Amino acid sequence: MKLIIIGIQGAGKSTQGNLLKKKLKIPYLSTGHIFREIAKERSSLGRYIKETMNAGYLIPDDKTLEIVSEYLSRPEYQKGYILDGFPRTATQAESFKNGIDKVVYLEVSDKEALWRLSYRGEDGHEREDDTLRALRKRIELFHKFTGPVLEHYKKKRKLVTINGEQSIPKICKEIITKLKV
Ligand code: AMP
Repeated sequence: MKLIIIGIQGAGKSTQGNLLKKKLKIPYLSTGHIFREIAKERSSLGRYIKETMNAGYLIPDDKTLEIVSEYLSRPEYQKGYILDGFPRTATQAESFKNGIDKVVYLEVSDKEALWRLSYRGEDGHEREDDTLRALRKRIELFHKFTGPVLEHYKKKRKLVTINGEQSIPKICKEIITKLKV
């Protein structure tokens, strides 16, 4: 099964992605993680990705599509996967032809997401690109660019919307039920 998990930063995508990975026995990958790995490289691409991420901007669509397509062509993803963080724009969604089965949208309010993220920072897991300004910018970009992505999958009848402000086990149960797996 090829799944996409969409949600604002702090919605719990990686928590649910990892739970689904165990339940469905398919790999979980996130574009945020892929880009953070590339950002560590001492190359011009690495520096460029790092600067773009730290400013809270999205990586351009052509670069993103190229990198994601390369990852998904690897043998471990041929039987299915849970993809987090992609597509983030209408262009990415329209250009991505990978036979996606369902798109899970974890719906969480901006207020709740910001609260969770500032709490995570205090917990000692602050990321370099997690300044409040960058967080607000990413939330703004999420609504601007990802809204049309949700519409795209809604029209294709692939969108499954889940209330992300419930307990972790309850959210997971609801996803499994709604996916009918
Ligand atoms: P995330 O961990 O999903 O919040 O991603 C961290 C950063 O990686 C984002 O703020 C973007 O700069 C970049 N990124 C991740 N996924 C994408 C994508 N699908 N398109 C463009 N940029 C992305």
